[in-house]
Amino acid sequence: MDTNGPVGPARPAGSAGLAGLAGLAGLDERIAGCRACPRLVAWREEVARGKRAAFADWTYWGRPVPGFGPPEARLLVVGLAPAAHGGNRTGRMFTGDRSGDVLYQALYDVGLASQPTSVTADDGLELYGVRVTSPVHCAPPANKPTPEERDTCRPWLVQELNLLRPTLRAVVVLGAFGWQAALPAFAQAGWTVPRPRPAFAHGAHVSLDGLELFGCFHVSQRNTFTGRLTPAMLREVLRTAARAAGLHGLK
Ligand code: SF4
Repeated sequence: MDTNGPVGPARPAGSAGLAGLAGLAGLDERIAGCRACPRLVAWREEVARGKRAAFADWTYWGRPVPGFGPPEARLLVVGLAPAAHGGNRTGRMFTGDRSGDVLYQALYDVGLASQPTSVTADDGLELYGVRVTSPVHCAPPANKPTPEERDTCRPWLVQELNLLRPTLRAVVVLGAFGWQAALPAFAQAGWTVPRPRPAFAHGAHVSLDGLELFGCFHVSQRNTFTGRLTPAMLREVLRTAARAAGLHGLK
């Protein structure tokens, strides 16, 4: 496997130079320059050009969205993929859409974020001991990456896990897609994942030698508008995972 990330004919020529940047900041730079999935590159850029009427005066990010949060995170939240007019517009995970509103409100409520909203990439939001990422870094049509796109993007998550490993103690995975995408990444990053692989469920908890893994319904509007995932349910999973990660100062 190429340890510098996904490879493909559309990979940018400048990637080799960016590969020299160290740590998570370097990884985030390399992810933001990735063009390995032709369908997703075309979609994210088409959405950025077409825009939504409400955001007509925005210059959309229109690129892969890297993870967000401190490099010494003890807790990782793994979603699915950026939203076309959320992360793909603002350039920050779960920022500028209704799913993000729910997630960051809950992170704030339990003491893991400096503010309850995440509106733009420069709005001053800080996360405390938690990082937010996704197994697919480009906005997909209909919020559905293909299995091939999921697998192509996996090396980025593996690298992120490797960089977080010294401090990472717990992970919350939002939804079945993220769960299925993340388990092979944990295995590739060196954790022992049981066979058969544990099934996703809201409230699922699996111990992977030193890493506590929790399942939670995704914060999609389909789940939050219908009450399948309530703010209280989300806070409970985040609080439990943050305690397992050894984070203090929780509310
Ligand atoms: S989804 Fe991942 S692998 Fe595919 S182009 Fe975006 S960042 Fe690259």
